[in-house]
Amino acid sequence: MFRSRRLVVFVGVVLAGALLQAFAGPGGISRFLGVSAASYFLTLLVLAVVAALFAPSAGPVSDHHEADDSWPGGSSEFLCDTCRYNDVRDCHRTERPNATSCEDYRRR
Ligand code: SF4
Repeated sequence: MFRSRRLVVFVGVVLAGALLQAFAGPGGISRFLGVSAASYFLTLLVLAVVAALFAPSAGPVSDHHEADDSWPGGSSEFLCDTCRYNDVRDCHRTERPNATSCEDYRRR
């Protein structure tokens, strides 16, 4: 679904902040904090960018294939689960379906 953890973190922080503003009563959370709504959202965007920058990116699975930076789609530790050749007719490697390193890997 999402191809970047950083995007997920950014959207999550902005969404959480917007929900706080929308449902924290009259004036929202910004009124509770004693700041204007514009200042609140500007600060929220800055925090979201900082949080996204510090979010862990998916590490490379191997040096010989495309890095899998999807999340949470990268729930499997095996490359074959996301490989376009993951079929007995297409791949005759003995590592299939549990390859953790493969030079023929191609993402679906
Ligand atoms: S090519 Fe490699 S990664 Fe793809 S299915 Fe075969 S063994 Fe798995």
